[in-house]
Amino acid sequence: MGIETVGDLLYHFPFRYVDYSLVSPIGKLQPGEIVSIHGRIISIKNEYTRHGKKIQKGIVADATGSIEIVWFNQPFLVKTIRVGEEYGFSGKVDWFGRKLVIVSPEYEMINRKRQIHTGRLVPVYHETYGISSKWLRSRTSPLISQIIPSISDFLPKEITRTNDLLNLASALKWIHFPEDKIQIQKARQRFAFEELFLLQLAAQERKIGWRKKKTIFKLKVNQEKLLEFINSLPFTLTSAQKRCLKEILADLEKSQPMNRLLQGDVGSGKTVVAAAAIWVAYLNGIQSALMAPTEILANQHFRTLKTLLEPLGVKIDLVTGSTPHTSHLTPHTSPDLIVGTHALIFKRARFKKLGLVIIDEQHRFGVEQRGKLIRKGRAPHILTMTATPIPRTIALTLYGDLDLSLIDEMPPGRQKVKTWVVPPQKREPAYQWIRKQVKDEDGQCFIICPLIEESETLQTVKAATTEYERLKKQIFPDFKLGLLHGKMKSKEKEEVISQFRLGKLDILVSTPVVEVGIDIPQATIMMIEGAERFGLAQLHQLRGRVGRGMKESYCLLFTETPEGKPLQRLKALERTYLGIELAELDLKMRGPGEIYGVAQSGFFELKIASFSDLPLIQKTKRAAQDIAPRLNQYPLLQAKLKQDTIKAIEPN
Ligand code: ADP
Ligand code: MG
Repeated sequence: MGIETVGDLLYHFPFRYVDYSLVSPIGKLQPGEIVSIHGRIISIKNEYTRHGKKIQKGIVADATGSIEIVWFNQPFLVKTIRVGEEYGFSGKVDWFGRKLVIVSPEYEMINRKRQIHTGRLVPVYHETYGISSKWLRSRTSPLISQIIPSISDFLPKEITRTNDLLNLASALKWIHFPEDKIQIQKARQRFAFEELFLLQLAAQERKIGWRKKKTIFKLKVNQEKLLEFINSLPFTLTSAQKRCLKEILADLEKSQPMNRLLQGDVGSGKTVVAAAAIWVAYLNGIQSALMAPTEILANQHFRTLKTLLEPLGVKIDLVTGSTPHTSHLTPHTSPDLIVGTHALIFKRARFKKLGLVIIDEQHRFGVEQRGKLIRKGRAPHILTMTATPIPRTIALTLYGDLDLSLIDEMPPGRQKVKTWVVPPQKREPAYQWIRKQVKDEDGQCFIICPLIEESETLQTVKAATTEYERLKKQIFPDFKLGLLHGKMKSKEKEEVISQFRLGKLDILVSTPVVEVGIDIPQATIMMIEGAERFGLAQLHQLRGRVGRGMKESYCLLFTETPEGKPLQRLKALERTYLGIELAELDLKMRGPGEIYGVAQSGFFELKIASFSDLPLIQKTKRAAQDIAPRLNQYPLLQAKLKQDTIKAIEPN
């Protein structure tokens, strides 16, 4: 369960509580009540049913009366529960034949220790085989009484005071063993604050570290020359592109290095914005590097940037795993721009005056790789680009050290993928429609199976395989179908994809996980099963797989819950075509767990706080900004931060 230390155990919080706080004299029990009783065991024994099953029956009595307690198939209880001793029981009072009984109650012996399983608000934890909530309670409870009183809080007093927060000891005590619901709430408030505060503080730390840097690459922007580049483009920049470019150029003119995140959907035109920055660097005699996560992307960037910049005199080179050597890249012959993959870091590419580093799809690179490339220059300007829609509140928290630019507009004339939500009763007509498209319009269709789990499991593979068989036999027997899933060998995958690309397959049935890398321009239909299980931004990215060619394209969202809120959510895709808008909407409607590919992109998931809680995000941000410059006055907090940041910030 990831619990390795006492601290981990104490931070394994209950996710709910059962309310057993009503304690009643046995003589006054009412059927249907959920209650706790205290009493002495009069008897307990195993009985056998007619079907050979064992029932455990006991009798408990107090001064007001007695009641029968019943369990099923737990024969060991007759040994563990001792006649004559006093016990607490909690459970529901019910009729059993004509008698009142309590079935399968929680129980514990009453001695000098405080009650933890009965007679109170009882915490319920996430469990795993062999580790039950009861087991966890009996381990946590002694810690609370023995260790916690001596724990010192790493949050400074001034913070707990001004924000009306519990201290750590009380918060831990109350979250595990609260006396009432107000205590639960107070404890959760403290931990939510703590969680966001630590993330914000880590970001502030990085920001301060960055601020201390001085760049030797303070650039001048020559407006005339800039226009020369912009006018050489075969299109006009969108106003969002212009705004982002302006923000970037303003950074380049400062004496602090830029650290900016450029966010925009696939196809929103980030590359040309980056190219303009490279152009400005070039005019200042400064070298640039652009790092892409895959060789295919690096090649593509290389070609694009060559077309855009070479006619203007910029010299460009490519360094990937397949480029044989880089020995020609000496400090003297090194070009103005080097495009490449990780090889940029590991091969000995020699830079002469690296002042601008651009990183595409930053979430795929670890901190270390970024750091290595950045160290190749002396405090270079950094621009990271991503197509992952990160809602603003999340960006503020996790990337509080970065400045943000958002391209929230697509170039004009892009065709929109027509999108429909398809309820169960329209399934047959939808299949007919697909059949017609494939036959008459020469269409090609993706069919994506429902999302079962975040990562691809055998269960997912099985579901896709079953669906593939069904479609092949019953729905489209006359078409050519292919199957694609993550457990296939990469050779088999490539084979299927290339057949689909060559038009030898009409329909490609696939699991959700493998979708990301495929680029098939002539595919026109994206059909998604169990669409309600996906995040909106994720559906949007799947939809982006079609509509890349000339032909009109379509997205069909099959759903089994065709009403209410889930339907409203999906309907948003019929009218909204911006990833970031959809991500924001999902954050509002479903919470952050559902943001696109949380697991896949390595997004950090909050334990207790919520990324949609803007007021708390702002409050913790202010507190972090306030504390960060004098963090060395708070050694406990400093230590805590060191422990935590690794886990929290690692993805980026
Ligand atoms: P991404 O943001 O996904 O990296 P690209 O930079 O690859 O997008 O741009 C996608 C396509 O859009 C490219 O072919 C590019 O030439 C084109 N493009 C970029 N900006 C504009 C614009 N303002 N008007 C028209 N087409 C544009
Ligand atoms: Mg791109």
